Amino acid sequence: MTRQPAQLEVGVLALQGDFAEHIAILRRLGVEGREVRLPQHLDRIGGLIIPGGESTTLGRLMSIYDLREPVARMARKGKAVWGTCAGMIMMAREITEEDPVPLGIMDIGVHRNAFGRQVDSFEQDLQIESFDPTPFHAVFIRAPAISRVGTGIDVLASLSDGRPVAVRQGNLLATAFHPELTGDTRFHRYFLDLIPAAAE
Ligand code: GLN
Repeated sequence: MTRQPAQLEVGVLALQGDFAEHIAILRRLGVEGREVRLPQHLDRIGGLIIPGGESTTLGRLMSIYDLREPVARMARKGKAVWGTCAGMIMMAREITEEDPVPLGIMDIGVHRNAFGRQVDSFEQDLQIESFDPTPFHAVFIRAPAISRVGTGIDVLASLSDGRPVAVRQGNLLATAFHPELTGDTRFHRYFLDLIPAAAE
């Protein structure tokens, strides 16, 4: 498959959180990351990353800027969408808390702050079957847990206690941790590989 990386634009929801880090990694991979703040910024992008941050704020801002329905539609139409941490919370079908109201685009249940408070943030090496054997060093910051995995969901990575932390459902990807905070670009490359298959 031939792709001209320079021509590919990937949207990064830039309302709140660590969108700049995602854009920096995309740039390293030769892909233009476009900041998405309004529905019209979703035009012509190959896929969308919903970054980590604070999901209650993210949810509120997505409502204010009328982004909820256009993003959900994009996902339904088969465009690649990846949520990291707070972004994963937004992707879920249901969460155990009342706030935020998730987008419901991926068949997973999520529990916010499942590993404790900020001080309980941790790092763990993950073995990821779809990647080469080098473990992926994953950074968990007030991370959510995946409490329910629907039937069409592939688990890409789990913690040593068996809890899933990276899942895929066709064109949709969700990670409980922050691949944009380490120099390892494999998750970003994995996401970019979802785009040609998912493009209209
Ligand atoms: N704890 C945050 C939330 O519930 C997520 C943290 C993160 O994105 N690093 O939204």
